[in-house]
Amino acid sequence: MKFRPQKPSILDESAETLSETLKSEKIPGFRAKQIQEWVYKKGELSFDAMSNLPGTMREALSGKYAANPVEPVLWKRSGDDTHKLLSKLEDGSYIETVLIQAPMVGVGQEKSRATVCVSSQVGCAYGCKFCASGLAGFKRNLTRGEILGQFFRIGERQAELGEVAAVREDHVPFDNIVFMGMGEPLANFDAVAGAIESLHSDWGFRFGARRITVSTSGLVPEIRKLADIGIPIRLAVSLHGATDEVRSKIMPVNRRYPIKELLEAVQYFREKHNRMVTLEFILIEDINDSLDQATALAGIAKSLHAHVNCIPYNTVDGLQWKRPNMRRQEKFARVLKEAGVSVTLRREKGHDISAACGQLRLKQETVS
Ligand code: SF4
Repeated sequence: MKFRPQKPSILDESAETLSETLKSEKIPGFRAKQIQEWVYKKGELSFDAMSNLPGTMREALSGKYAANPVEPVLWKRSGDDTHKLLSKLEDGSYIETVLIQAPMVGVGQEKSRATVCVSSQVGCAYGCKFCASGLAGFKRNLTRGEILGQFFRIGERQAELGEVAAVREDHVPFDNIVFMGMGEPLANFDAVAGAIESLHSDWGFRFGARRITVSTSGLVPEIRKLADIGIPIRLAVSLHGATDEVRSKIMPVNRRYPIKELLEAVQYFREKHNRMVTLEFILIEDINDSLDQATALAGIAKSLHAHVNCIPYNTVDGLQWKRPNMRRQEKFARVLKEAGVSVTLRREKGHDISAACGQLRLKQETVS
């Protein structure tokens, strides 16, 4: 479903499309560079503030473009320094963005590593059985501007908290970006690839490709397409089942793209980018936490030279599944470790503010 805002956002434009649009308005091409410097280097989205543009031009551009299409509604902060933002879009849809801060111990100093997790769709059509976003179904894709607008809101929040300056090229206030919020990013391929271009390009944020991760439930053709965009980002694959039988129970997408096809596409991505891929594995009691699953997962991870992230299941209101106890989680991870696989057993962040994808939005929509 294609959403058309009343006015496009300046964040919807690439360097190329902005030059073309300005040209059609008889505005010289060098103005595009000036505008994008305001937006991405100074974090300024209001044309009124773009003091090196003539007044009439500022007025015309303000009439043509909206600034940030993402309107913050509610911030929640958990005890472990996870901030969750619920925002409203022009059509009344809600999305959520999460800022996760993890302590990073350096030589003689301690600082925080900030990861921003953005949404790429309103809801999701993929219906993974453990996921809140799947519960409410799919509404629409986000635009490129709505994806990028989330970074600006997080940057503003960081500035408000006095932690860093607003979003700017030489001081983007976060260290990692993950497309792991609401929605299947690869089902909204063009807008996500466009946002990645704005994040990474010299005219944009100049954010390092290896600090950007796209997480997918396993859309095989789009994984190959992503490998070909020429920006060497990282890939995380939500596996959650190490055999077709178990994975299909948890993730309906597995019936369309079974594990063998998925692994071939992941291998293609890995070879193209020469980057270690991450396999995400949510541990759910009596569903996928057996030692047989751990052994099968170890085989897959070794064949791909992949890192495995084991994530204890995050309880979702309305869903029955449970998280395995700590002993069982550790036993599962040990099988992988003993097989020589690089594995992390995640201590989950933000549980008390519903940081699993889609939960905050779902609460908002069920109370509103
Ligand atoms: S886990 Fe991702 S792909 Fe699956 S339903 Fe949730 S948002 Fe969609």
